Amino acid sequence: MKKTEKETGKKTEPELKLIHELEVHQIELELQNEELILARSAAQESAEKYTELYDFAPSGFFTLKNAAEIVEVNLYGAAMLGKERSHLKNSNFGFFISAGTKPAFNQFLGRVFTSNVKETCEVILSAEGRPPMHAYLTGIAAGDLNQCLVTVVDITNLKQIEEALRISEKKYRDLVQNAPIGIYSTNLEGRYLFANEALCQMLEYGSVEEISHANAVSVYRNNEERTKFIERIKTSKQVADVELDLVTKKGNPIVVLISAFVSGDVIVGMMMDITLRKRAEGEIRKLNETLEQRVAERTIQLETINKELAFHTREIEQFTYIASHDLQEPLRTLTNFTELIREEYTGKLDKTGDQYIDFIFNSAGRMRELVRGLLEYSLLGKERVVAPVDCNKIVGEVISDIANAINACHAQITVSDLPAIMGYATELRLLFQNLINNAIKFRKKNAAPEIRISAVSGEKEWLFSVADNGIGIEEKDAEKIFVIFKRLHNRDEYEGTGIGLSHCKKIVELHGGKIWVESKPGEGSVFYFTITKNLVWI
Ligand code: ADP
Repeated sequence: MKKTEKETGKKTEPELKLIHELEVHQIELELQNEELILARSAAQESAEKYTELYDFAPSGFFTLKNAAEIVEVNLYGAAMLGKERSHLKNSNFGFFISAGTKPAFNQFLGRVFTSNVKETCEVILSAEGRPPMHAYLTGIAAGDLNQCLVTVVDITNLKQIEEALRISEKKYRDLVQNAPIGIYSTNLEGRYLFANEALCQMLEYGSVEEISHANAVSVYRNNEERTKFIERIKTSKQVADVELDLVTKKGNPIVVLISAFVSGDVIVGMMMDITLRKRAEGEIRKLNETLEQRVAERTIQLETINKELAFHTREIEQFTYIASHDLQEPLRTLTNFTELIREEYTGKLDKTGDQYIDFIFNSAGRMRELVRGLLEYSLLGKERVVAPVDCNKIVGEVISDIANAINACHAQITVSDLPAIMGYATELRLLFQNLINNAIKFRKKNAAPEIRISAVSGEKEWLFSVADNGIGIEEKDAEKIFVIFKRLHNRDEYEGTGIGLSHCKKIVELHGGKIWVESKPGEGSVFYFTITKNLVWI
C-alpha cells in the first residue's frame, strides 16, 4: 500500500515552497545586514574624515551660537587665537574682534543668521600676545540648530601686500602727476586717456579733466610733421627725443622733445618743453656769430690801453727817478749849508733865529729822507733778476739787523718754517723789513710786541702773514695805508715817511701778488701778502 508523504517524511510541495521562500528571505536579510554594516562603517569613516578635515584644515572653523558664543572650534582656529580648544568653548568670538571692526562683524553675524546664503566679512582679530591678524570670515547658518559655521582665513600677508601695492601705486601716481615733464597716454586715435599736471600746463589746458576731452592730434603745428610722427610711432612702436613744433590750446607756439612708445592699443608719451632752451640756443648762436668780432675789437682796444698805460707808467717812473735823483744834489747842498749855518751861527742870532735854523735843518733832513724813499720806490725791481730766495734766511738777516730795536722793546718774533721762492731778493728783504719794523713801531704802549711770521702753500701762490699785537688799524683805513706818503699818525706820535707800505705793495705786485691787512683797533693787525709760484713766466 502506498504511504502518504507525511508517513514517508517527505515535504509537501507547499512546504517546500515555503522553505524556499524562507531561505531566500534569510539570504536577503543577511545581505541587508551586510549592507547595513558596510553603510555604517562608511558613515563612520566619513565622520572620522570630516573630523580630521575639520581639525586639521588650514583655516579656522568656528561653530557659533547666535550671540557669537563658540560651540566648537577646530585646532587651526584655536591656534589662530593662541588658546586651547577647551578654553575657547563657550567663550565669545566677538571678544577677539578688534574694536574698529566690531560693527562690521556684528552686522555680518546678523546677516548669517537671517539669510540662507554664504556671507563674508573682513575683520581684525586681536588675541592676547599676538600681532593683530587681518581675517576673512565666511559664515553660513547651520539649519535649524540656531548655529552657524564661520571659517576664518588669515589674510594678514595679503593685506600687507595689498598695502605695499597701494603705497607703490600711490608713489607712482604722485611721481607721474608731479613730474616736471608732461606724461600722457592716448588711444591709437590720439584721444587722451591720461595726462599729468605738467602736460596740462605745457599745453595750456585748464585741468586734467579738460584735456581728457581733447585729442592729442590737435596740438601739432605742422600737418606733415604730425602725420610722419604718428606713422613713426605706429610702425617702430617706440620713438625717443623727437623735437616737434606744437601749439597750445591758447594758440601759443611751443617746441617740445617727445619720447613715446606703444603698449597694446595705448600710446604712452613723455614731453618736455624746450621752447626757452631753443630760444636761448638761437640767441647764443647769434651772439657767437658776433662774439669773435667783438672779442677781436676789444682785444685791440685793450692792447692800445695797455700800451698807453705802460707808456704812462714808464713816464711816471722816469719822472720820479729823475726828480728824486736830481733833487738830491740841491738838497745835499741845502742840508750841508744849513748844517754849517747851524754850527756857526747858533747862539749868535736871537732865540727865534736859532729856532728857524732848527726848523730848516729838520725839514731839509726829512725832505732828504722822502726824496730817498721816492728814489728807492722808482728803482724797485729795476735791473734785477729773478732768483731763488730762501725766506728763512732773509727774515733771519732782517731780524739780526734790527736786533737793537727788538731788544729795546723786548719784542718776541716767532718765525715758522718759511719757503724758498723765486723772487727779487733785495726787494723781498725790504718787504719783510718794512712789515717787521712797522709791527715793532706801531706797538701798544703797555705791551711788548709779539710778532708771528708764517706762510702757507696754495695751488698757485704762497700766502705769507705778518701778525702783531699792536695798536691796530680801523677798517676804513685798511686800503689807504698802502698809498705813498699816506700816514695815520703825526710824526710826534710815530716817526715815519708814509713810504714803507707803498714799497711793500709795489714789491708784492712785482711778485705777481696782492697785499692787504686785517685788523681791529687795539687788538693788532695781520698783514697778508701772496707771492706767485710762477714768477719766471709773468
Ligand atoms: P710809516 O710807517 O713810515 O708811517 P708806512 O707806509 O709803513 O709808513 O705805513 C703807513 C701807515 O700805516 C702808518 O703810518 C701806520 O699808521 C699804519 N701802519 C702800518 N703798519 C702798521 C701796523 N703794524 N700796525 C698799525 N698801523 C700800521
